[in-house]
Amino acid sequence: MTAQLTPEVRGLLSSTVLSWLDKPPLGPFIDGSWRTARSDTLIDVIDPGTGLPVTAYAASSAEDVTDAVAAARRAFDDGRWSELDPEVREQTLRHLADLLEKDAEVVAQLEALDTGKPLAEARLDIEEAVAVLRYYAGWATKVEGSVIPAPRRFVATGTREAIGVCAAITPWNYPLPILMYKLAPALAFGNTFVAKPSEQTVLSTAYLAQLCAMAGIPDGVVNVLPGAGATGAALTAIQGIDKIAFTGSTRTGQAVMRAAAGTLTKVSLELGGKSPQLVFADADLDAAIDGVMGGIWTNAGQVCVAGSRLIIDRRVHDEFVAELISRTRRLSLGHGLAPATSLGPLVSAVQRDRVAAFVDQAAAEGANVETTSELPDEEGFFVAPTVVTGARPGQRIEQEEVFGPVLTVLPFDDEGEALRLANGSAYGLASSVWTTNASRVHRVSRALRAGTVWVNTYGVFHPTLPFGGVKASGFGRELGSAAVDHYTELKTTVIDL
Ligand code: ADP
Repeated sequence: MTAQLTPEVRGLLSSTVLSWLDKPPLGPFIDGSWRTARSDTLIDVIDPGTGLPVTAYAASSAEDVTDAVAAARRAFDDGRWSELDPEVREQTLRHLADLLEKDAEVVAQLEALDTGKPLAEARLDIEEAVAVLRYYAGWATKVEGSVIPAPRRFVATGTREAIGVCAAITPWNYPLPILMYKLAPALAFGNTFVAKPSEQTVLSTAYLAQLCAMAGIPDGVVNVLPGAGATGAALTAIQGIDKIAFTGSTRTGQAVMRAAAGTLTKVSLELGGKSPQLVFADADLDAAIDGVMGGIWTNAGQVCVAGSRLIIDRRVHDEFVAELISRTRRLSLGHGLAPATSLGPLVSAVQRDRVAAFVDQAAAEGANVETTSELPDEEGFFVAPTVVTGARPGQRIEQEEVFGPVLTVLPFDDEGEALRLANGSAYGLASSVWTTNASRVHRVSRALRAGTVWVNTYGVFHPTLPFGGVKASGFGRELGSAAVDHYTELKTTVIDL
């Protein structure tokens, strides 16, 4: 198909990206080759900055799901990947990282076009994906077993083995990094893989499938099933998968877990959040304003760890909020590929309307809603960064994940109240504390119920830092050594002497 790109957008894309978009629609990638897309299942890829279709792909059918899982199963069972020497897997994954790094600008442009995010943010996503891949490539040759102190007539060992076929179901906000949190450790330890990217953002996952083949990863080891919820549901219901790693909304995570009960498939779930940012009056307020802004405006708030609840000492509430709004007005809303853009559109019209409904309800319930910027003239799914003050604790805007550029501000009078507000959420993904008081740092970070606490910073991700949630934010930790448990089985061998 011919991409419907405005002349401005066309001028910002490299010739490689343009030729990729003008190819025939993508289909599933199974056993090392692309299946031809069937016209009755085509889904448009929309540029969120213009609302125009830029290419299309075919949603995978139930038959494609069966075939992809069977291909991954065969590839696992015959040992073409799991029985390679670990050095070979390490080298192959390093080769894949080099290829991705070489094509980083192409993939970043595809990602910016597909998600709507600013190109500068997309570039960081690709850098992160490369770093995660290199980190786990190294693990292929580093994971060790143990000798277990069993009774003396036995020698007992614990060894780490691949699990088998691992599936990933991923969302649209960070398509490539979130895929890599799953794919890199799975492949490092010898598993085979089936990826189901979000229906909104298939391009970078499809591009990676092509690079996997170029890197020499054997056919059938990595399979990709583009498609929407029905494809995901088929993937969670099928026998033959040993582990499903899901990142997305809490409601869909519950559906995944229910389906996995039927096949007794292991699951790890990284779900939503309503992460608090606690600002105490003794904090470096200048740094805190920038940190709070980064925590909520990055990727237009479509971040599972978005710091969407600012919980702030009443004594500095007014001046802090005024300065935050004034700095936010300097951000430039626009198309993700435009060089001046610091805040892009939301991923879809549906998401834009969802966010608008949250804000309208908060206003109708008496909260003060301050919209900080004019919307750009362009069509596209834009929402201006919005600050909500005067909301009551427990109100919907303060409790539910908005997944957009909306910050709810709640004042507190003392540390106890700050912690009650912070922990008064169904979620527990991330949190932050801004203070210069060392005792408070320890007290508050110990008391926060969240998978991650950032102190005097926000949103720090690194391949070595385990990441995941508590409560309705899910369970299981990705990244760091914690992922070894997810992608290996521990085998106990007992030898009678
Ligand atoms: P969001 O689109 O808001 O991130 P979802 O949690 O619905 O929220 O999407 C995350 C991923 O889950 C996407 O890849 C989506 O296609 C997939 N998905 C949606 N519904 C289901 C389902 N019933 N079973 C499995 N996966 C699903």
